[in-house]
Amino acid sequence: MARRDYYEVLGVAREAGEDDIKKAYRKLAREFHPDVNPGDKTAEDKFKQATEAYEVLRDKEKRARYDQFGHAGAAGGFQPGAGGAEFNMEDALRTFMRDFGGVDLGDLFGGSGGGGRGRGPAQPLRGSDLQARLEITLEEIAAGTQKTLRVRHQKKCEKCTGSGAEPGTSVETCPACKGAGEVRQVQRTFFGQFVNVAPCIRCQGMGRVVTKPCSQCGGDGRMPAQETVQVKVPPGVSSGNYIRMQGLGDAGPRGGAPGDLIVVLEEAEHDVFDRDGNDILCEVPITLSQAALGDSIEVPTLGGKARMKVPAGTQTGKTFRLAGKGLRGLNGRGQGDQLVQVRVWTPTNLTKHEKELLEELGKLEVTRLPRPGILDRVREAFRGAAREGRTA
Ligand SMILES: [Zn+2]
Ligand SMILES: [Zn+2]
Repeated sequence: MARRDYYEVLGVAREAGEDDIKKAYRKLAREFHPDVNPGDKTAEDKFKQATEAYEVLRDKEKRARYDQFGHAGAAGGFQPGAGGAEFNMEDALRTFMRDFGGVDLGDLFGGSGGGGRGRGPAQPLRGSDLQARLEITLEEIAAGTQKTLRVRHQKKCEKCTGSGAEPGTSVETCPACKGAGEVRQVQRTFFGQFVNVAPCIRCQGMGRVVTKPCSQCGGDGRMPAQETVQVKVPPGVSSGNYIRMQGLGDAGPRGGAPGDLIVVLEEAEHDVFDRDGNDILCEVPITLSQAALGDSIEVPTLGGKARMKVPAGTQTGKTFRLAGKGLRGLNGRGQGDQLVQVRVWTPTNLTKHEKELLEELGKLEVTRLPRPGILDRVREAFRGAAREGRTA
């Protein structure tokens, strides 16, 4: 079949700009659109030709190739429709809809966007993603862990292997949409004609219908199921981190791909430790004499007990750092410390002997108390700020 020159088809000059080309095509497409000319074969051909010309001339590269090599050059740049060298009707309608239909085809056609490629048969719908909560302790976060999780989800029906058709019966192309999975609806209004694309109700957008639904799943192709899955949790995670387990969400209806299971991690509260990023915080009581004389004390850590030196003259509230005893950062990035705050425990329920000793001590030490004033820590902070202020 002889092909007309694209510029001639659109009725534009060879040096026409983008806007002229778009305008010319829009005019022709509206005139020859099949919805305006039902059953008119000539109009249909004109619509296809105009669309093909538009697809080439609107694209800088294709247009340059066409200008240099003619139709043979342009053909290398786009995929001809299923009908062979010619643009098919579906491609043409799609192009028109993309640029003038007011419907986002990316959504309807799975985001494939521009180009002249036919979209093929409708795809089954993907199943939903599911979410599950998983509580883990700080010890598990420190070492990494593997947990068992029970999930309830929709699984592919075993009887019909997901097709939704009773075994031995067939799945047929949907008669309502002819397998496209959607129907075009034309609305004529005072302002002109609008074309809408909506999913086919008969086949729910799948393009296929079963002749006899599976007796086990009722034609849906899936059944509720409960399973246990193993979740591997790496060290260093925090609340809100999640692990995506592919394919463990709900199966799609009638053979559609399964969604994912999203496991959201939650850190359980710990009765000894607190967490600040990768650092672990805890508070340890010491006696009056340990604080005054100094001692080596035992402190809990995530990896078991450790010893820590308390120097003589330690005030209550003093914080010590145990380097490297915190959490290993996620993906091995960073290593936290453990911060131990000591609290001097004031003895209660004294024995007679203890009381005597303390009374003896009291006579001496009262005179050596510093004068009342702002707390050490606050004073330190002031001094620090003042130092920085001077050097800055
Ligand atoms: Zn079934
Ligand atoms: Zn249908």
